[in-house]
Amino acid sequence: MQMKIRKLGTALLDVLYPPSCLLCGADVAQHGLTCVSCFGRLQPITHPFCDACGAPQSSQENLGRTGLCAACEQHHPAWQHARAAFVYTAAARDLILQLKYADRIENARFLAQRMAQIGQDILQPGTVLVPVPVHRWRLLRRRYNQAALLANEVARIKHLQVAPDALMRTRATTKLAGFSRKERQQEMQSAMTFKPKWQQKLQGRSVVLVDDLLTTGATATACVQALHLAGVHDISLLVAGLVPARPEVDINLPE
Ligand SMILES: [Zn+2]
Ligand SMILES: [Zn+2]
Repeated sequence: MQMKIRKLGTALLDVLYPPSCLLCGADVAQHGLTCVSCFGRLQPITHPFCDACGAPQSSQENLGRTGLCAACEQHHPAWQHARAAFVYTAAARDLILQLKYADRIENARFLAQRMAQIGQDILQPGTVLVPVPVHRWRLLRRRYNQAALLANEVARIKHLQVAPDALMRTRATTKLAGFSRKERQQEMQSAMTFKPKWQQKLQGRSVVLVDDLLTTGATATACVQALHLAGVHDISLLVAGLVPARPEVDINLPE
């Protein structure tokens, strides 16, 4: 009976709000999907990819015996493993920016499904998800943290715990464009702090940082360092979009 009512509810909802593509608004069979043509514009990341930065590779031979790309072999990122769901193409950018600035919360569910798949080996039982924080002034403007939405959706799919406020940005960072790598790092580092109430809960646990985008890695590195100081050492990174070293679209990076 309950099932029937639920089905009726869904049918009614479909009449009132017919399911439409998350990207172009065309009719689709179910809520929360893209149409076939928009899906074709997305570039989901598949094997082979670098274990440390998540960047897709044209051939397995680009990865050394350790599974790392040449750049990561030379300079390993601060975190252990990184997994990214999509290359940051124009279509992925639209999904992420609409989530960030246009209240398209249903996009989080779509992105998180792919994140849970690509990240399944780092999302082991007992892993705690920590969203990369935004400063509360920005939070007021945007009303929610897109990284926290993604973390919540991934946690729901994989039955994991989220530590929503384990990390905080104590002050808004200035625009990082034009800064050198080192300057970015210093600017970010001094802005990120760990909330001591999470210390015991995260002790000895595997932590996966969740963010919408991986660009220079400066923000994620600052998060890893703040977690290291708190005694958390097994830290990986899971993102919705990865900006390749040489982006194929002219993108205006949000941060
Ligand atoms: Zn579409
Ligand atoms: Zn790499």
